Amino acid sequence: MNTDNGHLVGGLSCGAIEDRKPCGGELYEGNLFGPSTVRIPLCERHAANLYSWSTETYRASPIGRMEEQGLISGHLPGYTYIVQLPNGRIKIGTSVAGRINRRWREITRQYFDKGYREPLKPLAIIQGGASKEAALHYRFRESRIRDEFGEQFNPTTDLILFAETEGIPEEQKSEVPTYEEWWAGYLWKNRATQGSRIEEKLGEVTDPWDFDFPAFPVVSPA
Ligand SMILES: [Zn+2]
Repeated sequence: MNTDNGHLVGGLSCGAIEDRKPCGGELYEGNLFGPSTVRIPLCERHAANLYSWSTETYRASPIGRMEEQGLISGHLPGYTYIVQLPNGRIKIGTSVAGRINRRWREITRQYFDKGYREPLKPLAIIQGGASKEAALHYRFRESRIRDEFGEQFNPTTDLILFAETEGIPEEQKSEVPTYEEWWAGYLWKNRATQGSRIEEKLGEVTDPWDFDFPAFPVVSPA
């Protein structure tokens, strides 16, 4: 059964088989998943799993193998960034010059909306766009989180060391302060919805990031 916006309502639950039984979980965003010829009902976890599997199989794996064999002489334009997410995991994503911090802001807002109150921690910006991203997704495939959307990776020593070694090149250095400045303002703008917790947080954040906060009255609890 379809609603006006094409989403399914009722009657279908996740059909992924686990331990020889259908999962039965609630349909993720009311959608069916898979190629247009074979659409199947999936819960969020199984939809994320299918997404991870298909991007790894058809995108990351062929490109990653070619890179390992030295068959790639250059990458698509753009940059691949590595950041630590507010949930502690690592994201490897891609953007273009001058817009990397905008992508970071979008991701930060998504986590903020889920209740996280930490900024991203930028670790590396590497030359090469979507093909470089795919090659790195392949290289660190063992650490990939497959049960959730968001192309997240476990913060393994290997991955962190790799990111720290790559670092942020001189010509992209301004992305970090631009982002940090935005974060300070964003946190300040959203303080009203957060009450006193945010004011505590502002105090904490000042140290590691050395933010320049606008002067504001701190109301101490009675
Ligand atoms: Zn399921």
